[in-house]
Amino acid sequence: MNSKYFQHTLAHTLTFVGRGLHSGLPVRMMLQPADPDTGIIFVRSDVPLFQSEITARWYNVTDTRLSTTVSNRFGVKVSTIEHLMAALYVCGIDNARIVLNGPEVPIMDGSAEPFVRMIQQTGTRQQKAERRAIVIRRQVRVEEKGKSASFMPAPVPWIDMTIEFDNDAIGHQELSVPMDRALLACDVSAARTFGFQEQIDTLRKLGLAKGGSLQNAVLIGDNGVINQEGLRYEDEFVRHKVLDAVGDLSLAGMTIVGRFAGLCSGHGLNNQLLRQLLQQEDAWFLTTVSGAEEYWTWTQSELPNAEKRSQLTAI
Ligand SMILES: [Zn+2]
Repeated sequence: MNSKYFQHTLAHTLTFVGRGLHSGLPVRMMLQPADPDTGIIFVRSDVPLFQSEITARWYNVTDTRLSTTVSNRFGVKVSTIEHLMAALYVCGIDNARIVLNGPEVPIMDGSAEPFVRMIQQTGTRQQKAERRAIVIRRQVRVEEKGKSASFMPAPVPWIDMTIEFDNDAIGHQELSVPMDRALLACDVSAARTFGFQEQIDTLRKLGLAKGGSLQNAVLIGDNGVINQEGLRYEDEFVRHKVLDAVGDLSLAGMTIVGRFAGLCSGHGLNNQLLRQLLQQEDAWFLTTVSGAEEYWTWTQSELPNAEKRSQLTAI
């Protein structure tokens, strides 16, 4: 069977050293291989061992202001996990232990690219267990103050993202991409996080963005992008929102076979959507990635031709 149907882990341990975007604290992070069906587990090496593990799943998300934070029942946290989680998805890593000596994942250059590059260099190892999938059977939608996020049935994982900013440097941007690992690695993983100069003072007063700089974020001022090097992609902002969504949705802990559509959707709404979805048990079923493919092949063959064509063109 094709390797895409099987779980993978890292071929070797990797180490990253950097600073947290919000805490500004130095942090050393190791990505270690893990057994099949472990999922992604954060381990805080600076707290007592029995309190140290936090499973990277949707139900452990406790804060979504500016970044995604997961916590365990002892209140031990790891924040700004979304770019690393996106990198693990993009590289096809299903199982890993992420050992950190602080409360925040290093921000690196504000994108997922440094993680993706190092994981690709070190390689992955296929495991015996099959990848699991959640197949979307009907629409599930959440909305809040003109923002929304939804899942629709679709034969392959897909992301549509639209952003609207009342700022000329960003404005209206849209992106529609399959959640194809090679494509996301090239077209999305290097898109950096961004912020507005006018917000920096407020954030710093709240004790946030202490580690933020022009080396790890795109900063937008009155006259547009402040970074001298400019943008990495013309539409880097919407690409970064797609990257965030890939990371946030990976907290389902398995492949979501369906189409995600976000309108100005951020970490909070992405997590609310996962919670809504998993509560509504008639909206999905569990299978393997190979099982999801079989289901969709069968479903397509059962549809009348006209409907089949419209479903196919819709993706
Ligand atoms: Zn981000």
